[in-house]
Amino acid sequence: MDHYGHFIGGKNVKSTSGREQDVFQPLDGTVRAKVALGSKAELDAAVANAKAAQPAWAATNPQRRARIFMKFLELVARDNDALAELLAREHGKTIPDAKGDILRGVEVVEFALGIPHLMKGEYTEGAGPGIDLYSIRQPLGVVAGITPFNFPAMIPMWKFAPAIACGNAFILKPSERDPGVPMKLAELMLEAGLPAGILNVVNGDKEVVDAILDHEDISAIGFVGSSSIAQYIYSRGCANGKRVQCFGGAKNHMIIMPDADLDQTVDALIGAGYGAAGERCMAVSVAVPVGQATADRLMEKLIPRVENLKIGPSTDPAADFGPLVTKAALERVKNYVEIGVKEGAKLAVDGRGFKMQGYEDGFYMGGCLFDNVTSDMRIYKEEIFGPVLSVVRAHDFEEAVRLPSEHEYGNGVAIFTRDGDAAREFAARVQVGMVGINVPIPVPVSYYTFGGWKKSGFGDLNQYGPDSVRFYTKTKTVTSRWPSGVKEGAEFAMPTMK
Ligand code: NAD
Repeated sequence: MDHYGHFIGGKNVKSTSGREQDVFQPLDGTVRAKVALGSKAELDAAVANAKAAQPAWAATNPQRRARIFMKFLELVARDNDALAELLAREHGKTIPDAKGDILRGVEVVEFALGIPHLMKGEYTEGAGPGIDLYSIRQPLGVVAGITPFNFPAMIPMWKFAPAIACGNAFILKPSERDPGVPMKLAELMLEAGLPAGILNVVNGDKEVVDAILDHEDISAIGFVGSSSIAQYIYSRGCANGKRVQCFGGAKNHMIIMPDADLDQTVDALIGAGYGAAGERCMAVSVAVPVGQATADRLMEKLIPRVENLKIGPSTDPAADFGPLVTKAALERVKNYVEIGVKEGAKLAVDGRGFKMQGYEDGFYMGGCLFDNVTSDMRIYKEEIFGPVLSVVRAHDFEEAVRLPSEHEYGNGVAIFTRDGDAAREFAARVQVGMVGINVPIPVPVSYYTFGGWKKSGFGDLNQYGPDSVRFYTKTKTVTSRWPSGVKEGAEFAMPTMK
């Protein structure tokens, strides 16, 4: 059985904390590894290594820094199958989905290859008599990332690639539920030529997270996870004077207009609602057909599709989705289905009784579909994070704009229609950070940026894309006068550009 310790100073080190937690294999419910729950002392050791290594890394020219990421991409491609296999075993998602998880991370590494260009500052010649101005971007020093279980390859790469490319040293605290892939990525960065100490992985739970939040040598923290923890990390990190960005949970709506191509819409909805067993922050968890006739037609097509979803172990290439990540997650999702029934929503498809033959102890459930969900129900207001889709019937377009806009989460939203006017107006008015028009999961490409609004995002910059370079650097502005010997005499009034 694997025992994950930490990756500090370029080495896999055993934990000395004396605390460990099980890492499950969701496909059959067995324990496949143990992960260390690190201590403050271990975090301190990682930060000390990072702090010692960072100045030389920051002084390495950006093209050379980029070349290491180029090599890293080669290594990820070389090990892609093994990484996807490990990811699927610890998370439960299917192998094709695990490969997508890796690829969406790789795309942000590809963006980071442009760091020589992205780090360029600005220059103004002759801003005053003999005066030139320039601004430069400098790294922050040691920064940290705290990541969730649901994208164990993608989100660590979203965090460490731009941060390290900018010249920072990085402490990664991955999810304790599937730490295998983040540990491997750190090893691959070292193999690619990254100096020891620039990327460290410290495994653990709240104890390590709190130590990160309070460590005076950590300048910035990027977090992705549930909203309650996001808010906690944002408050405590900011109170300690750090730069913090936290991305939280979601309740993503898909609006279906009466003119939408229903076959195309149902295809999009079933994939976005049930892919990865609904354990995606951009999963569609609420479908909003506009008008009763649209709703009736939608349900007619949707019910047999949900009933016929193919659930299987991650090793089955034909499976639509696999098990949930842990037994606790499975029970939590089933409990929400029970709540929905008690609240009076109509359970049109009940997947709770699903058992996977030959894998009876795996954390599986079938797809569930609720109709007649209303906005006062807990199953509408709260994030379920499982293969459960709620249908909320809207009377008209106005209600369809209002529902996602008034929801306390604001990560993603989609509208399916053939009407360009309606789509344009919806995109302009809806109070949500990422909008898809006939695109169910509108995760922007890596050279844009990703971020939700309201309870889905805390802080004022998004992750990856140009915002990530702003987040992981500080701007210095230099005002210079040459020749230095220009004599104007002493001036006591505030200097201005005369
Ligand atoms: P989580 O909040 O349970 O855990 C996220 C991280 O926080 C983990 O590293 C965990 O160890 C740490 N953590 C957990 N409890 C803590 C505590 N009490 N104090 C300090 N640290 C703690 O989230 P999860 O279950 O791993 O991931 C699923 C959640 O992440 C969902 O809500 C999902 O919507 C969200 N998510 C959001 C985005 C986004 O970009 N908005 C992306 C992916 C996932």
